[in-house]
Amino acid sequence: MIPHHYPNGVGWVEVIAGCMFSGKTEELIRRLHRARIARQEVVVFKPTLDSRYGTQEVVSHSDDRIPCIPVSEVRQIIESAGSAQVVGIDEAQFFDNSLIEVIEELANDGVRVVVAGLDQDFRGVPFEPMPQLLAVAEHITKTLAVCTVCGSPANRSQRLVHRNTRVLLGASESYEARCRRHWNPDVFDPHQESLPLVTG
Ligand code: ADP
Ligand code: MG
Repeated sequence: MIPHHYPNGVGWVEVIAGCMFSGKTEELIRRLHRARIARQEVVVFKPTLDSRYGTQEVVSHSDDRIPCIPVSEVRQIIESAGSAQVVGIDEAQFFDNSLIEVIEELANDGVRVVVAGLDQDFRGVPFEPMPQLLAVAEHITKTLAVCTVCGSPANRSQRLVHRNTRVLLGASESYEARCRRHWNPDVFDPHQESLPLVTG
């Protein structure tokens, strides 16, 4: 159980990490709503790069919403956090590594920082700065989706369209959640009957 406060105004970092559709944004919004119920001042950020949904809101695939400030530079998080007791950040993998020191700075100043992001890219490679954030966090939650092929718990994002760029914004038209058996970074055809297993 993640606490609402530490004694003596000490801050901390919570990381919610997982693949696409695993419920990271839902869990982030749930925690931030509860902090608001506790009458804490909450400020939420997302990268302007994430233009998939309304720009002034963080929105989950199940349409949970919370107002947010879109930022293009990590430093804007410190500038806009003001006197917030709780800072939420979604899509952390779209920020550069300076996010790590900004989050540490906030937590050192007594802020509860709740960060959600993809832990792996579509190739299964750890997606910076998430690995570093997982290392410095006090609390870590790994969320799992449901494999769209077999229904097992899924922790990989299967890209369905052929693009060689690491970032390809999209939802169900471009990605599916897959378990390790049904995920393959080299397969982009969702209608292929037998997916080769990932070996080696
Ligand atoms: P994330 O932020 O991790 O991408 P969201 O919190 O936005 O995920 O959305 C989670 C919701 O996505 C689930 O509650 C469910 O309604 C929906 N969903 C769609 N496809 C899947 C899937 N394959 N596995 C789990 N949830 C899914
Ligand atoms: Mg999300």
